[in-house]
Amino acid sequence: MLEVRGLWKQYRKYAAVQDLTFSIQPGEILGLLGPNGAGKTTALRCIAGILRPTAGQVLINGFDAVNEQAKAKAGLAFVPEVPSLYELLTVEEHLKFVAMCFDTMNVFEEQKELLLKRYHLAEKRNELVATLSKGMRQKLSVACALVHRANVMLFDEPLIGIDPEGAKELKNEILRARNDGASVLISTHLLDTAEKLCDRVMILRKGQKIIEGTVEELRNLDGMEGKSLEDIFLILTSEERDATTDLSHA
Ligand code: ATP
Repeated sequence: MLEVRGLWKQYRKYAAVQDLTFSIQPGEILGLLGPNGAGKTTALRCIAGILRPTAGQVLINGFDAVNEQAKAKAGLAFVPEVPSLYELLTVEEHLKFVAMCFDTMNVFEEQKELLLKRYHLAEKRNELVATLSKGMRQKLSVACALVHRANVMLFDEPLIGIDPEGAKELKNEILRARNDGASVLISTHLLDTAEKLCDRVMILRKGQKIIEGTVEELRNLDGMEGKSLEDIFLILTSEERDATTDLSHA
């Protein structure tokens, strides 16, 4: 389970994320949506422990991400927008390195073969990461996140740069993880995908949450009946609209 309470990230005078509170239950996918610069990546990087929040608290499976970092990170997987990989390891060595870091070597052999096959990396297993194409790097990044069987999974724009077959497989993988009880947070600009994949969505604008709920709940807002998530998103994030929308008044 993931709980985020009052998360705030300040860059000098600029608040990139402001007072963000939400939780994701086991077996739930939350879509993190928002225009460019809304604060999605900053929020994900704070939750992943890559950035130190200015204020607020992140609990991963009940463990504080700052004060109980090792325990919190044991259950966490983060797939960044731009894969960050060790260029001079082979594909297989990379997976093994991640499994060793997370102390999951007991399931490594089984997991490795499954993931290499699923992500079409088997024939590249002995190639250096430096030689992989952009899409293959993305697939390896996803495989690394899955190799240690985390139950809180963060994906930052994971479908960009992956071919249609890989994207379909990844969506299935995310659904599989959800069905196995993972709490999944996925940032995306692909609103059709978000509508199909996510149990709930949360829209950020200028660092603030403007709404959170199921797509059905969003459609129950005044003037939103019958609209697609794309239309709802464009209305709610338009410059003219300033007030945040509380679903309890819908
Ligand atoms: P996109 O959809 O374009 O990826 P995003 O929603 O992920 O955008 P962020 O990358 O989180 O947005 O950026 C949020 C805001 O914080 C932006 O205005 C960005 O310029 C600012 N920002 C991000 N990193 C820094 C930094 N290191 N120093 C100052 N400002 C930053």
